[in-house]
Amino acid sequence: MNIIIMGPPGAGKGTQSEKILAYCNIPHISTGDMFREAIKEGTELGKLASSYINQGLLVPDEVTIGLVKERLAKPDCQKGYLLDGFPRTLAQAEALEKLTQEISRPIQLVINITCEKDALIKRISGRRVCPKCGNSYHVEFKKPMVDGVCDNCKSELVQRKDDTIESLQVRLNAYENQTKPLIEFYDKKGLLKEVDGLKDISDVFKDIQKVISEVAK
Ligand code: ADP
Ligand code: AMP
Repeated sequence: MNIIIMGPPGAGKGTQSEKILAYCNIPHISTGDMFREAIKEGTELGKLASSYINQGLLVPDEVTIGLVKERLAKPDCQKGYLLDGFPRTLAQAEALEKLTQEISRPIQLVINITCEKDALIKRISGRRVCPKCGNSYHVEFKKPMVDGVCDNCKSELVQRKDDTIESLQVRLNAYENQTKPLIEFYDKKGLLKEVDGLKDISDVFKDIQKVISEVAK
């Protein structure tokens, strides 16, 4: 399957992506994760990206498109892909049309997770992540077995630098102004399926499974 997962910050894209991976066995391409990895490694890309990410702003299109172009060209994407957090602008969506043509893997499904602002604020402020393995938790909705400790690698959980109220406001504005128009873009192409992200994590996944199996028929 060739899938895009969309939605506002905190809607549950990363959480559901983990489950989709186990279900579909396709590579997970999260531009946010790729930028965070580059920041951790201290690369030039990381230095450039952090100046935008820490303020809640989008990383410039040419940088982000270049990163995804390289990733999609890798052999594992020949069995499909799950794009999470990309595209986020119309320019990125248009570039992606070309990139997917180049690898003969056209987008088959765009899952849009909907969620209200109050829930987004609660989710973002309670999100905790593992700095070592990247696992993600929530202080209320997805608790680790031991408070503040990663189930997987036992590292101490941290809060993402951009998970502040100030940064979230900027990210929500970027979502409204730059990313939301993509809903219509993909709807017009007949690729869009909406899923109610206000439900419990496991119920959202059940709805996603339904949508995927309809398209896979
Ligand atoms: P995104 O990748 O869209 O920014 P995440 O998947 O990281 O969002 O989810 C944001 C936070 O909300 C995480 O702490 C996650 O555990 C929690 N979360 C995700 N989906 C739900 C849900 N359906 N109900 C409650 N909390 C959720
Ligand atoms: P995420 O992990 O998806 O919440 O992304 C974290 C941050 O990385 C975003 O707030 C942006 O600053 C940056 N980012 C991730 N994906 C993109 C993208 N497709 N275009 C521009 N910036 C991005």
